[in-house]
Amino acid sequence: MPAIELLAPAKDLETGMAAINCGADAVYVGPARFGAREAAGNSLADIERLAAYAHRYWGKVYAAVNTVLRDDEIEAAVGLCHDLHRAGVDGLIIQDVGLLECSLPPLPLLASTQMHNHTPERVAFLEKTGFVRAILARELELDQIRAIRAATTLELEVFIHGALCVCMSGQCTLSYAMGGRSGNRGQCAQPCRRGYALVDAHGKEVVSERHLLSLRDLNLTPHLGDLLAAGVSSFKIEGRLKNKAYVMNVVGHYRQALDHILSAQGGRKASSGAVTLGFEPNPDKTFNRGYTRYFLTGRGAEVASPGSPKHVGEPLGRVAAVGRDSFTLDAPAPLGSGDGITFYDREQKLEGSTVNRVQGKTVFPQRLDGLATGARVFRNHDHAFAKQIAQSRPSRKIGVALKLRETPQGIALVATDEDGIHAEASLACDKVVAEKPDKARASVEQSLAKLGDTDFAATTIAVEWATPLHLAPAQINGLRRALAEALAAARAQSRPVHERTFIPNDVPFPATKLSYLANVLNQKAAAFYRRHGVVDIEPAAESGLDLAGHTVMTTRYCLKYELGLCPSRESTGAEEGTEPEGFQIAKRDRTPAAALSSSSVLSTPPPEPWFLIDDEGRRLRLDFRCGQRHCVMEVVYKP
Ligand SMILES: [Zn+2]
Repeated sequence: MPAIELLAPAKDLETGMAAINCGADAVYVGPARFGAREAAGNSLADIERLAAYAHRYWGKVYAAVNTVLRDDEIEAAVGLCHDLHRAGVDGLIIQDVGLLECSLPPLPLLASTQMHNHTPERVAFLEKTGFVRAILARELELDQIRAIRAATTLELEVFIHGALCVCMSGQCTLSYAMGGRSGNRGQCAQPCRRGYALVDAHGKEVVSERHLLSLRDLNLTPHLGDLLAAGVSSFKIEGRLKNKAYVMNVVGHYRQALDHILSAQGGRKASSGAVTLGFEPNPDKTFNRGYTRYFLTGRGAEVASPGSPKHVGEPLGRVAAVGRDSFTLDAPAPLGSGDGITFYDREQKLEGSTVNRVQGKTVFPQRLDGLATGARVFRNHDHAFAKQIAQSRPSRKIGVALKLRETPQGIALVATDEDGIHAEASLACDKVVAEKPDKARASVEQSLAKLGDTDFAATTIAVEWATPLHLAPAQINGLRRALAEALAAARAQSRPVHERTFIPNDVPFPATKLSYLANVLNQKAAAFYRRHGVVDIEPAAESGLDLAGHTVMTTRYCLKYELGLCPSRESTGAEEGTEPEGFQIAKRDRTPAAALSSSSVLSTPPPEPWFLIDDEGRRLRLDFRCGQRHCVMEVVYKP
């Protein structure tokens, strides 16, 4: 059974080191170019420092070189891969198979989720071509993950937390179509988070402007055991643009949750050391759009976040009364000065303010504009919690058993750490017999326990001497420091390193025809697929393809389902008859009878096709293929 990895995002060196300190087994980081998050690029020097830090705990650093590449970029990208190898990274996350036609360093290759790794056939292909790991598509169900596991032996990495793409992984060209900013090249402008109105075939408004493509954030905390049992070995947190406090909080949370599952279900974590956080992690306290399990256990979860693409926060209660410079909540709220609150105004726009002070249920915020009686109030910034994280100094210590023993010339200190690594430091000294044996032993044990600023913490201390010796504290301290250095060096020597040379082959790709959704942007990528039996290759959208009339998104998220109009909704027995929360259904389409009907909140299904219209008047057509559990919605650009 492979070791189980908690994998965290690192926007920069500081965040990456904080993630390791909070218990991440591995972090992933983007270099200055080709990292699929243009705003989170790092220098080679910083990546080298991060790798050296992670390696002290036998943790790993993966570099994301996962944009699709133009022909004129391949050489630089390959050069970068070699630089990253020299910087000490443990693996490369790639999307562009053009790289596989080049001479790469002997690093394990991880297939980016952008490769749309969603079927047993595709993942088996990745294994046969030489990838060591597939990062699975986010929209998969547990059964699909199990089927992939049954068909392959490579490592499976799954997203467990963070922002979701509404489009199937790697299949989105909406941002590129709308403004030339390609998600496949790390420039996504997030058009899915914008406001859209939904209109029917006759141009009649069905839903007024809401964030109709914006999803909640993933949180699979309750399903870690299922994923482990399904054969997932890497548990990934999304967020290379997220700040350090967020990463510390979420990593701390999943370290605790995963340790709990590992001790209950069996399994070992992929790196060394035990963590002391210095704060109580809580994923509700940092950025989220409301949580969802997405499709992991099938359709039916709350998936959409139409109210706002921002962090709305934890619900506190409703406004009972509004005063001149204060408002009163219907229940006592644990608010404090400095907290941030949010609420929806009469136009259903999200507003926010900072709390100046609180008196019982009465809150004095900096501003009240738009706050009305009955409005729900949320807290999106918990000042005390933020302060606790900022002031915490998480530490991670590798457990060592220490033994002090006599040598013919003096004394020696021996360590065996939790990974079974040995080190020894000795000191030649006169053996002065202690006058007070008990005191001598206690003093030695006390000195040895002080591993202080090192990466180590003593789990047991044994003192083995023929007669109790008098040892000066300076002698013990020097010995202890020398031992910590020797142990760190021994760990570096013994760290398992998995180098792997990529050898091209010609195993058949599971299709002979590829559309622009295969993201083939360069000649080398086309050559790769031809060698693997593909005969018909359409170039990637980024080659300058006119996307008018093309599908720019394919989603499992079904807007019909959200509105209670999907035929699969009845067959899956989902909750019915309630107005979908957060969707502003146009009043003229709603009748009391409809609101009570068992299948729909709309009186009659609006005639199709439906369109989304943004605030600049651009139209997207929605094509639905609904069926039992397997709805697919296609978003067509400029229909
Ligand atoms: Zn549907």
